[in-house]
Amino acid sequence: MRNKEMNRETSDRLLRDKGLRSTPARRSVLSAMYGSGPVREEEIAARVGSECPDQATVYRTLSKLVDAGLVRRHRFHNRVWYFSLNIPEATECTHAHFVCEECGQCECLDTTSVPDLPPSIGNKLVTGVEVVVNGICGHCRSGKARNHDQRRKA
Ligand SMILES: [Zn+2]
Ligand SMILES: [Zn+2]
Repeated sequence: MRNKEMNRETSDRLLRDKGLRSTPARRSVLSAMYGSGPVREEEIAARVGSECPDQATVYRTLSKLVDAGLVRRHRFHNRVWYFSLNIPEATECTHAHFVCEECGQCECLDTTSVPDLPPSIGNKLVTGVEVVVNGICGHCRSGKARNHDQRRKA
């Protein structure tokens, strides 16, 4: 669902505003996430390509960007993190999401509302709300992604 590129000026400014040095890895991770909803780390790594030498670099870079508040981390499934940009220049993924049980693709459901919770409930601190609709995506239903799935599970 990518349709935009983040220009160098924007990524430089976003990083600088958070007191982070602008490095090729950070710029390309930000850019790889621009114009799309939550994506998995492996997909970000695939999009980044040669700008990050390995997946560990992508993961370290993502953690740094999450700590700085530029990236939001979503946990939709056990043990799988999804990441989305947390900046005014991009669609902020505070809405509901659809996650395919077969291929793991995430789609934004930006018209589905999410309950607006207070910062705490009783003695519990609220750190986030995720509304996730589980199901099978159109691609998987039509069998188009079957080869891809077999590769992924192998
Ligand atoms: Zn979203
Ligand atoms: Zn699917």
